[in-house]
Amino acid sequence: MPKPKIVIVGAGPSGSACALALARRGQTEVLLLDKSSYPRIKVCGSGLSPLSLSVLDHLEIRDRFSPKALRMPKLLARGPGGQEIYLSGAKGAWVLPRIDFDQGMVEAAQQAGATFQQETKVTDLLRGSDGQICGIRTASGEIEADMVVCANGSPARFSRDPTPHTGIRTIMGWWKDTRQPDGQGTMVWDRRLDGYYAWAFPEPGGVTNIGLTIPEGAPETKTLKALFETILEEHFGEVVRDAQLVGKWMGHPAVVTTKVSDTIAEARVMDIGEAARLVSPGTVEGISFALESGVLAADAIGRHFTREQGLSRVGRGLYRTRTRARMLPKFWAGHGFVQLMRSERARSLTSKVFNPQWLASRASTLLGEQPD
Ligand SMILES: Cc1cc2nc3c(=O)[nH]c(=O)nc-3n(C[C@H](O)[C@H](O)[C@H](O)COP(=O)(O)OP(=O)(O)OC[C@H]3O[C@@H](n4cnc5c(N)ncnc54)[C@H](O)[C@@H]3O)c2cc1C
Repeated sequence: MPKPKIVIVGAGPSGSACALALARRGQTEVLLLDKSSYPRIKVCGSGLSPLSLSVLDHLEIRDRFSPKALRMPKLLARGPGGQEIYLSGAKGAWVLPRIDFDQGMVEAAQQAGATFQQETKVTDLLRGSDGQICGIRTASGEIEADMVVCANGSPARFSRDPTPHTGIRTIMGWWKDTRQPDGQGTMVWDRRLDGYYAWAFPEPGGVTNIGLTIPEGAPETKTLKALFETILEEHFGEVVRDAQLVGKWMGHPAVVTTKVSDTIAEARVMDIGEAARLVSPGTVEGISFALESGVLAADAIGRHFTREQGLSRVGRGLYRTRTRARMLPKFWAGHGFVQLMRSERARSLTSKVFNPQWLASRASTLLGEQPD
């Protein structure tokens, strides 16, 4: 009997982690597709939080990335009132440019037995006469599948989730020879960013990536480039003085959520990573949730999938429940943090928000780090 065929759309961290975990199980044929040509650049701060690193440990692949990663053991968090806190922790975070990280993840999946096909843009999901997903359409033809896993990131164009979502706008650039302190990240919660933040993360090779996140509806999004110029000047002027911009500023939309829809798991289609909107509203951190959801989806498929029935009711429930249990508390904490950062009233009502210790403990929960 041929093995069931699983087609994964998108080779970001979620798709590759799912492909890797499925291929290791050896029960299915795994085809990983991406529209881009690899290695490819991805608009991202490229910060691997302690949570991301723990998923790489679970997959036993952290070592392969170690030589190319820059350790970021310190983080400077600046609050809306200008107060500053240094966070540091034994766990630490890494910065690993996505061009290297995503390429390495794809290679790990291939080595485990998955097939990778790049430059293949999926234009549609195909449904059979029974209404169930039975494959995908690409510019060069159709591909049949027993299960399609959507890992195509944001915007989640194949999502069946009807609930409204919160969109986040971003803009960022890369600078060489900055004065960003060694091994230190900076996150700035500026009032104009409506509860969100700007950051500077040092990358390997003397490069620093600097960017901002802001909710779609915020008034300042209308003049995003001008806002970025102002933020750069006010918060990172010293950092980029005499530095050279590498390439152009870039942006990519992100989607955050405080809910996980039932539609992330159906009999013949699943959503993982940002295609399932699994991104923290507090920090727009999504790599750990992408990796983790890829592993959880592979586990549900491995244990509860048959060619005849697809993913059983138990399997669907398992993926939804485990995803919710592991991620929603972090998303809710992140959402609460944004509301407090955003609200002038809350800030004036509670002096706690201005208290550096309070900010430190909140930020450390979000970032998985300890205040100094
Ligand atoms: C500016 C910015 C900064 C960020 N910084 C961080 C950070 O520092 N740390 C962190 O943890 N998170 C960060 N995030 C969030 C993080 O980038 C995402 O959550 C994460 O990449 C999601 O992984 P994914 O695998 O779900 O999707 P993606 O990484 O987006 O991968 C999706 C893949 O699908 C492919 N694809 C899309 N459509 C199709 C199609 N139709 N056919 C075939 N292939 C397709 C794309 O080419 C892409 O390779 C940031 C996001 C932004 C926008």
